[in-house]
Amino acid sequence: MRIGAIEAGGTKFICGIGDEHGRIEDQISFPTGHPDQTMPRVIEYFQGIGVEAIGIGSFGPIDLRPDSPAYGYITTTPKPGWANYDLLGNLKQAFPVPLGWDTDVNAAAYGEVKWGAAQNLSSCLYITVGTGVGVGVYAEGRLVHGLVHPEGGHVPTRRHPEDHYSGRCPYHGDCLEGMAAGPAIEARWGRKGHELPAEHKAWEIEAFYIAESLTQAVLLLSPEKIILGGGVMQQSQLFPLIREAVRRNLNDYVSAAAILTQMEEYIVPPGLGQQAGLCGALALGLSAIHNQTSSSKSNLI
Ligand code: ADP
Ligand code: ZN
Repeated sequence: MRIGAIEAGGTKFICGIGDEHGRIEDQISFPTGHPDQTMPRVIEYFQGIGVEAIGIGSFGPIDLRPDSPAYGYITTTPKPGWANYDLLGNLKQAFPVPLGWDTDVNAAAYGEVKWGAAQNLSSCLYITVGTGVGVGVYAEGRLVHGLVHPEGGHVPTRRHPEDHYSGRCPYHGDCLEGMAAGPAIEARWGRKGHELPAEHKAWEIEAFYIAESLTQAVLLLSPEKIILGGGVMQQSQLFPLIREAVRRNLNDYVSAAAILTQMEEYIVPPGLGQQAGLCGALALGLSAIHNQTSSSKSNLI
């Protein structure tokens, strides 16, 4: 089986080809430019390969409601050319195969459920801390869309008592993304995250903000696993700091072994490493085939 996968990021696009076991055979990556330049590269990559389906995990916000006229569109992004862009429709025109479509972070959560750190679980959160902060939610055995889709990067957060940085989210200032994404670290300390030493105060403050949101997520959604990916999480010293801060925040209130004694296995890096997003897109492509098969079966009844 050959399935196409697209991780459509605001910074770069990754396209790949894989199989039903989550194995990626080939992949390419290029910077995200104007869609007039980027989409032909995507289409050229898959042409002649004979993919049976394509899964797309996209930066957003995106429209996920199948009954909406804008289904398959990227909606309100400030990225030139991509606002109100019919990403799914353009792909459908080039490749009339089943297409899976979800947010980049929901895709990554799904990849982790199928082949990564959340296998055999019916719930998990996937959080990326990179240029922005994104949160994918898998609950009760399915990806959560709801009204639009979760936007957990923009939750308001309490302030670290020693942090006077104003935050850089254009909408909210000091939301989680405004305080904790890579560009906020750089703006607060005058250096990029990877240039700051592991024992720098920056990481305690960073862990504080991430832990604030994880605490809310644990209380609100009760996920069975929390997976933290993205460039900033390459700083592996963050993991123990975050686990400790979440434990302190919860103060033994949530009485689950995962939190009381097994936090090392509860808040974890992606089992699929850097491939979580692309494998997730592959998994979306695979389920698009299954969905089509089951809906055509139900049409016959
Ligand atoms: P994107 O979010 O654009 O898809 P990344 O997840 O790589 O890409 O995130 C990029 C952000 O993460 C940048 O702000 C960068 O400074 C930061 N970053 C990347 N690598 C590291 C690192 N090793 N340590 C700390 N910050 C990092
Ligand atoms: Zn915000």
